[in-house]
Amino acid sequence: MPDIDKLVRANVKELVPYSCARDEFTGKEGVFLDANENPYGDLNRYPDPYQRELKKAISRIKGIPGENIFLGNGSDEIIDLCFRTFCNPGTDSALTFFPTYGMYEVSSAINSARLIKVPLTDDFSIDLRSVTPWLTAPDLKLIFICSPNNPTGNSMKISDIEFIISNFEGIVIIDEAYIDFSELPSFRTMATTCKNLIVMQTFSKAFGLAAARVGIAFTNPSIVHYFNKMKPPYNISTINQKAALKSLKHMLLFKKRVKRIKTERERLVTNLKKLSIIEKVFPSDANFLLVKTINADEIYSKLIRNGIIVRNRNRIIPGCIRITIGTPGENNKLMKALSRIDL
Ligand code: PMP
Repeated sequence: MPDIDKLVRANVKELVPYSCARDEFTGKEGVFLDANENPYGDLNRYPDPYQRELKKAISRIKGIPGENIFLGNGSDEIIDLCFRTFCNPGTDSALTFFPTYGMYEVSSAINSARLIKVPLTDDFSIDLRSVTPWLTAPDLKLIFICSPNNPTGNSMKISDIEFIISNFEGIVIIDEAYIDFSELPSFRTMATTCKNLIVMQTFSKAFGLAAARVGIAFTNPSIVHYFNKMKPPYNISTINQKAALKSLKHMLLFKKRVKRIKTERERLVTNLKKLSIIEKVFPSDANFLLVKTINADEIYSKLIRNGIIVRNRNRIIPGCIRITIGTPGENNKLMKALSRIDL
């Protein structure tokens, strides 16, 4: 098992983190004259820097101890933290697969890390033969695996992910942003025992809280410790912590909505397959469908003229558009507009 302290950048290890007022006094009662807050107003106090109440609720629902949880300003903050914590700018590298979520590449470029992009196979699964030689590269610090993958929608094989985790001495990040739309189990429990694993989830998708910007990292306490040192002190606002907490109190609604989205996904698959302008609907474990069309640019523009905006992925996967599953009414509008397109 890799030694996390050896993987962390020297400056991060030596960093003396900023100690905010709420680090130094954690009590709730008293006359607070320590944080230069305004004594008036409803949102005048800084939030809990470690989001304790929210973590307690996440811990209960996800079955993971609080010490194994870090919360970011969206998963995007966690992706950036991975680079800043582990990759020395200019020398270290990260690996991901292609096509996948674009922020791994953007964060890597921002942090001057080289990104190795290993192509997925024709059915968008991991090609272990292409990855294996990289696993021992001395400067490779991070491997990002998005499962279910954006924009392809499929999940990676569990055995392929396990192979990478057990044969790599750096950090493996499994991005499970879409896991709640999948039938496959999460890797989050493994992140509590496996030293080099970070499993990311988010409130942005199945919880319907993209506006709130709350991302979760399940990982070992040592990585939580380094992330806490690096993050801005109050990285998740009080409003957003409350919104996430509220959503966890309505798990029946969560389940109902996820079920509805999955039912709509299957209905859309059936209907899209009947259209002559659609060549293929790829299997999806997410809340979107990747669809190969006879002319993605044309179809994308025609849909926009009908007020329907999908994602044109033609430059990344030729002929493809990515369609997010909407409400039944929105999906009906999409189907009606698509069925009128004559190319
Ligand atoms: N991971 C994946 C795979 C995503 O598709 C997205 C957003 N589309 C994110 C992470 C970012 O999520 P968040 O809103 O939590 O930053």
